[in-house]
Amino acid sequence: MGKKELVVSAIENGTVIDHIPAKSVFRVVKMLNLEDNQTQVTIGFNLDSRKYGKKGIIKVSNMFFEKRDINKIALIAPKATLIVIKNYKVVEKLNVEIPDIIRKFVKCVNPNCITNHQQVSTQFDVIDKDELKLQCHYCEKITAKNNIEIL
Ligand code: ZN
Repeated sequence: MGKKELVVSAIENGTVIDHIPAKSVFRVVKMLNLEDNQTQVTIGFNLDSRKYGKKGIIKVSNMFFEKRDINKIALIAPKATLIVIKNYKVVEKLNVEIPDIIRKFVKCVNPNCITNHQQVSTQFDVIDKDELKLQCHYCEKITAKNNIEIL
């Protein structure tokens, strides 16, 4: 088996998350709680990519992701591609998308925000998808790319 084949070696059923910036691979792993999972996960990074220079890839056997999880991935890997595999065949291929509204899974940057003190789920309007700026629905403070903390 050649080097290239090893990199893209097939899984029977599951999801391949491709085109992750190499430096964000482990954040995605953590975000999706893959470490706590019993399923088989293959991680590759610093792979050559035309899109990125260096990219990462995560292959997860027997797991399929909900829209909510897909949206999470978009926050740290906005150009990621999800490939759904069933019976060794690609059945779906989709680009992750930063949603217009983000609920629950990002922490508000403002320490005085009600969402940091009470049982209130965070909610943000995405006001800039390129720069990734999220405006809190409650306190109106901006949580930006550099200080996004995933709950
Ligand atoms: Zn807030």
